[in-house]
Amino acid sequence: MRIGFIGLGNMGGPMAHNLLKAQHTVAGFDIAAEARRRTVDAGAREASDVAEAVAGADVIITMLPAGPEVRAVYLAPDGILANAKKGALLIDSSTIDVTTARLLSEEAAKRGFDMLDAPVSGGITGATAGTLTFMVGGSAEAFARAQTVLQGMGRTIVHAGAAGAGQSAKICNNLILAVSMIAVSEAFALAERLGLERQTLFDITSKSTSQCWALTSYCPAPGPVPAAPSNRNYTPGFSVAMMLKDLLLAQQAASASGAASPLGAQAAALYQMAVNAGFGTRDFSAIFPFLTGEAHSLFTRS
Ligand code: NAD
Repeated sequence: MRIGFIGLGNMGGPMAHNLLKAQHTVAGFDIAAEARRRTVDAGAREASDVAEAVAGADVIITMLPAGPEVRAVYLAPDGILANAKKGALLIDSSTIDVTTARLLSEEAAKRGFDMLDAPVSGGITGATAGTLTFMVGGSAEAFARAQTVLQGMGRTIVHAGAAGAGQSAKICNNLILAVSMIAVSEAFALAERLGLERQTLFDITSKSTSQCWALTSYCPAPGPVPAAPSNRNYTPGFSVAMMLKDLLLAQQAASASGAASPLGAQAAALYQMAVNAGFGTRDFSAIFPFLTGEAHSLFTRS
């Protein structure tokens, strides 16, 4: 298939590479020249703007930072909706607010396009390995049309429901992840004060009722999980700033829908404090040294 790919950053770059490996043709655009160059080196055709990237494409994929960028790239006169070929399938894999996802889907439908919100879980590792989980919102027909392309980038592809449902699933997932990461961090910080060995706490909790992904796959305290970012000075992974963005999206959705989210609010406040203290570009598991106060020995303020 001919694919137009916009947003070739940490996630979009490797996702585009995997589409090339799966024998699709990719025309790529990013405002950053370095990101464009990496994708061209992998075999993509370089586009000089959005209109050129989408011209003639069967499928158009966006992987951009947040709602405002996605909205602009879709709705601008030189953007996707004004320049995509008739019948092209539109897939936004960025993590954005549910309201924008629904609005863009409606705007796309008015112009005769099928559109899916298809945010991902799995991080840069999953994007590189082609093992992402896609949570997809949109019609069943559009979901069926997207299978071949999504299978080139992911392993688990789930139809979450109508437009916006993919984004809803994504912010719920990250709400759970943020709160569980803070809970695990608090427990390891408390254990330290009580003189309980890190590894001992890990061995017990990983086989007990507190077992969760933040603990056993991504332990925020250095040591027990060798592959976790805590063992490489909290290099992301998934950054504190990105987690804050997703928590704020969850809070916005909770407030708009009347859902109570007291722990999500607290988690957002903590991640905001971590960003303000200079940890924005560190992995989100750096909430552990942030809580223990060991941060000063680990980081220089950015
Ligand atoms: P990134 O900042 O590395 O990449 C975004 C890219 O978009 C950048 O290269 C930037 O130059 C480009 N861009 C910005 N505005 C543009 C425009 N108007 N036109 C063309 N290009 C533009 O971010 P990322 O880590 O790749 O994340 C992308 C999305 O995926 C975000 O919504 C993020 O929340 C989500 N996500 C990230 C991860 C992760 O682990 N990094 C995991 C899951 C989901």
